Amino acid sequence: MAGRRVPAAGVVAGERALRVTSPPGWSEAELATLAAVAETFVRGGAVRRATLAAGAIERSLEPDQVRQLRRVLRLLESPAANLVLARRAARYRDLTPARRERYLLRWANSPIPQRRAAFHALRRLLTFLAYADPGETAANPHWRAIGYAAERPPATLDLSPVRPYALPAAGAAGTIELQADVVVVGSGAGGGVVAADLAAGGRSVVVLEAGPFVDETTMPASELDSFDRLYLDHGLAATRDGAVTLLAGAAVGGGTLINWMTWAMPPDDVRAEWQRDHGIAMGATFVADAAALGVELSVAPAPTLPPRDAAILRGAEALSWRASTIERNARDCTDCGSCSFGCPRGTKASGIRAHLATAQAHGARVVADARCNRVLVEGGRATGVEATAGTAVGLVKLLVRAPQVVVAAGALRTPGVLARSGIRHPSVGRHLRIHPAPVVAGRMFEPVRMWLGPLQAARLDEFAASQRGRLGYVVESAPAHLGLLAQAMPWEGADAHASVMQRAANIAPLVAVTRDGGEGRVVEAKRGGTRIEYRLDADGVATLRHALVSMARLSRASGALEVIAVGMPPAVFGREGVPSGGESTAFAAFEDRLSRFDFGPNRGSVFSAHQMGTARMGSDPRLHPCDTDGHVRSGARARDVVVRGLYVADASLFPTGIGTNPMLTIMALARRVARTVAAEG
Ligand SMILES: Cc1cc2nc3c(=O)[nH]c(=O)nc-3n(C[C@H](O)[C@H](O)[C@H](O)COP(=O)(O)OP(=O)(O)OC[C@H]3O[C@@H](n4cnc5c(N)ncnc54)[C@H](O)[C@@H]3O)c2cc1C
Repeated sequence: MAGRRVPAAGVVAGERALRVTSPPGWSEAELATLAAVAETFVRGGAVRRATLAAGAIERSLEPDQVRQLRRVLRLLESPAANLVLARRAARYRDLTPARRERYLLRWANSPIPQRRAAFHALRRLLTFLAYADPGETAANPHWRAIGYAAERPPATLDLSPVRPYALPAAGAAGTIELQADVVVVGSGAGGGVVAADLAAGGRSVVVLEAGPFVDETTMPASELDSFDRLYLDHGLAATRDGAVTLLAGAAVGGGTLINWMTWAMPPDDVRAEWQRDHGIAMGATFVADAAALGVELSVAPAPTLPPRDAAILRGAEALSWRASTIERNARDCTDCGSCSFGCPRGTKASGIRAHLATAQAHGARVVADARCNRVLVEGGRATGVEATAGTAVGLVKLLVRAPQVVVAAGALRTPGVLARSGIRHPSVGRHLRIHPAPVVAGRMFEPVRMWLGPLQAARLDEFAASQRGRLGYVVESAPAHLGLLAQAMPWEGADAHASVMQRAANIAPLVAVTRDGGEGRVVEAKRGGTRIEYRLDADGVATLRHALVSMARLSRASGALEVIAVGMPPAVFGREGVPSGGESTAFAAFEDRLSRFDFGPNRGSVFSAHQMGTARMGSDPRLHPCDTDGHVRSGARARDVVVRGLYVADASLFPTGIGTNPMLTIMALARRVARTVAAEG
């Protein structure tokens, strides 16, 4: 996984299982305090949760962040500090449960951003673990109470043909060397397409993937295991201030392995803007590439409409709003909802089923657990890459000599690869777009079981870019499993949180994919990970508020008994017990509250599963680190100097957000870059 250390020795997927052992260096007092905090958030299983949490913190966060969290734990243990913070000279552990809650809530609502950040970091992790961890005996007590059972579809017998390439033994100098025509860094949506197209065109291709290879028989069966093995930073990626949870894939297949498969064309006005303002041809060739990719990925509407998506269509009809069913890249996929754990059935047309399989069928070598450190650039041209690979004998240096290098490590990691390779352009790492997604949860009368059925089968288009331009967004269902739901739901005390979670089976959550108002940047951090910063601007906040109001109306119109706008504090509208005459007035007051919702850092909850724009493509050498064919530009003064043989082919290329699901656009741009690479090889 990018940003995490490459495993110490020939790691196979099964060996990555979480270890419930305390990380070295953590004191008993720190762990006991963490357990007390865990118990305050969600009752039960706190000791195991604290151990899991400490391990996850150690493996996923930057050293200074780990130090900071441990400092917070020590602060909580200090009677002297608590005299100031909580007006009580006692250790946090020794406070009564009610006092512990009040203590945490003071941090949650503190005017000091660092306190809010610490509260939310711990809240997210500890509530997630409470509901995502199957427990020692695969019998998480919450699951039984809620009636949650992630389906365990039988693993397909028809395994994906992709097999990781077995590296040869290292030479005397402890280095493995490979030769290829093209090396592709990253095996996600963009990298997979480039590898397939070039290998099918007869080129010798090596794909390096920092994450592990997981086949269908060993796909995770639980949310916790899937976050641990398949997600960037074990699912703990977030902006530096903790305000935005960032989800991204990080195994062979990248985001395609775990994503929700929604296939969407970029809006017409975005295509027009990219062409007009950034010089990117978005006409007939783009449309033809998109259509061909749809065929390659068996794109089709979902065969069934699960309750959470039926609610979108029902609500939209009641409001006379535009909505549609969604096309998805899966075939024969009906019931199990395990798509975000990878797909044991093999019905999802993810990278390992589609483009990487094509690439391998044409001889491409897909190397898992191989993290590219830098591209080798000599005399202004790329000559290969240097990587660190996990092998049976430990970590080894891997050199891949190739005259052409395509970087497709995703928008959160590609800038680091370029920076470590000496690429200099002021926009590398900047202009990060994340499609900030606010959440509204509707509690229905009937069970919804959001975790089952084809993911995202319907969408609300009423406020799309075609209607609202720059401020456009689409509304989709959020097919979360319990861990993600638990961390998304507001926490105003253990009982209140537990009460919402007990009714999880009836919750139909909605997310809005907004076109960014605001942007961020990705800065290289010490351990090879990144520091990610993001700020909403006034347009961004206005769009999020507009989206909250629309989602609340949609949820109510689809029959929700209760509507929760997620944040701290949340805004809640309940129908039960309200006299019928008073409902409209109460809802109007609720809308008014949403239209002023606080989206300050760590107040309004914002998620992102789409990261883009950190090596943007375009015709202006001063603004765009990549030209319109994907070549990389570098040079402090002469920024239009192209590094020969070096290309980018992932979501980093987006010059702006698009306000809808990006996979199709990434793949179509990658195909364009593949044509450039083929023509110049
Ligand atoms: C939960 C979730 C649901 C989503 N649902 C949808 C959806 O329904 N529809 C849609 O259109 N989009 C969806 N997306 C987004 C979509 O999957 C991503 O935008 C897309 O995969 C990004 O493609 P990419 O090529 O830029 O990078 P990725 O697919 O992220 O691939 C980058 C790969 O590079 C690897 N890597 C990183 N650094 C290095 C390195 N130094 N060396 C080697 N390898 C490296 C990473 O491990 C990763 O595997 C979803 C994403 C998530 C997380």
